Amino acid sequence: MIVAIDGPSGAGKSTVAKAVAKELGFSCLDTGAMYRAIAWQALHNGVSLDDEAALGEIARTYDIAFGHVEGDPVPKRVFIGDAEVTDAIRTAEIDRAVSPTSAAPSVRAALLEQQRRIGNAGNYVVEGRDIGTVVFPDAAVKVFLTASDEERAHRRVRQNVDRGIGSIDYEEVLADLRRRDAADSSRATAPLRAAEDAVQIDSTSHYIEEVIDQICALARE
Ligand code: C5P
Repeated sequence: MIVAIDGPSGAGKSTVAKAVAKELGFSCLDTGAMYRAIAWQALHNGVSLDDEAALGEIARTYDIAFGHVEGDPVPKRVFIGDAEVTDAIRTAEIDRAVSPTSAAPSVRAALLEQQRRIGNAGNYVVEGRDIGTVVFPDAAVKVFLTASDEERAHRRVRQNVDRGIGSIDYEEVLADLRRRDAADSSRATAPLRAAEDAVQIDSTSHYIEEVIDQICALARE
């Protein structure tokens, strides 16, 4: 069974997806981390972000894997090739590099295949931008999670502090969220949009616990 959670950057997808997975006893797949890992590898290899063929080659040849921190059932560690990139993929540099990376059709094709293989192996909560529309169009539950731009930026600032990555400037975060939303929504391949049959949840003025309960109830129906 697949629970698909899509939505723009910083709407709370990661927090919600991990909590729903824990509650339902499902595994959890963060597809944004996969695009981020490819962007990291491209920068590491000195590949130009407008070299579609080279980006696709990276997505096809490097293995992406997830790992657990001891005692935590939700996989939060991210690896590409031999490198652990858990923290390295959360920088402003990667925030900028991931839009051109995820717009490359060859990258999307390679990751789509991997995401389907992972998700079809069990019960999964899968979060991303195109899960309900493209990757798992037959998902049992589809949620499109949004929040106001300002609320999303505040959450991203808090999240970075919680992760121990350091403080970031609110205005810069807000501008970056808007830039990424625009890029994700306007790209030709798998643009960000809600599936017709998705349940739309605006988390701006709801406690995250309410959103988690609502999605768990949908999954149990
Ligand atoms: O969710 P997160 O912000 O980590 O995603 C990073 C980027 O990866 C997004 O801005 C988007 O460009 C891309 N992405 C995507 N399709 C997905 C998940 C993420 O294009 N399913």
